[in-house]
Amino acid sequence: MESGSFIGRNYRILQRIQTAVQLIYPARCLGCGDLTETDFGLCGSCWRDTPFIGGLVCESCGVPLPGAPDGHRIECDDCMKTPRPWSAARAALLYEGKARSLILALKHGDRPELARPAARWMAQAGRDLIRDDMLIAPVPLHWSRLVKRRYNQSALLAQHLARETGLDVCPDLLKRRVRTPVLDGKTAAERADTLSGAISPHPGRLHRMHGRDVLLVDDVMTSGATLTACARVCREAGANHIFVLALARVAKDA
Ligand SMILES: [Zn+2]
Ligand SMILES: [Zn+2]
Repeated sequence: MESGSFIGRNYRILQRIQTAVQLIYPARCLGCGDLTETDFGLCGSCWRDTPFIGGLVCESCGVPLPGAPDGHRIECDDCMKTPRPWSAARAALLYEGKARSLILALKHGDRPELARPAARWMAQAGRDLIRDDMLIAPVPLHWSRLVKRRYNQSALLAQHLARETGLDVCPDLLKRRVRTPVLDGKTAAERADTLSGAISPHPGRLHRMHGRDVLLVDDVMTSGATLTACARVCREAGANHIFVLALARVAKDA
């Protein structure tokens, strides 16, 4: 009883401080900038317009599927035809509408503050993939793109995700040695060809993934070609199970 009332009093003090902070810095919606109740979130209207992925998804690529989850592993046609080189994947959002504009703002709009709430959504979407002692690693960006954008959005997401989940993160586990051209419009074979040899492990970080489960983090998963290249590199470097968590997933018919 003693400690309960102590916590209760501290909580009330904390609440009062928080209210004071909110009066000075009122929380704003990430989508539209309007004032909102919660910190680092979306207002009701932006929340409704943001396509969060829920319900039944393909275990291998996270794409939403019709039907309801029944506890069995289910895969989409693409993943059954071409098995993925990882155990499971999830994404928090569908890459369309409001989600697309938020991600473009994170990627090109110099709004790194979006990464923290985004990582929270990812932790929620990826809760079934999280394992003890897992190592989080972002999909690497070539240094020339890094210069232009100032930060690697996937590395930023990975760092916030690590804070959110308490897992280790290695931002430079993988390196992109070659600046690869944009992969849109290329066939799967052409993409694989372009990417082969473009990604390699950081020689000084090899020991960190040896025998360990790795969670690859990306902002947007389209065909998964880049993630496939990353997963192969991790596998060759001796990683145990590999999982994928993306902020958004491009729907197949998009
Ligand atoms: Zn809003
Ligand atoms: Zn799939």
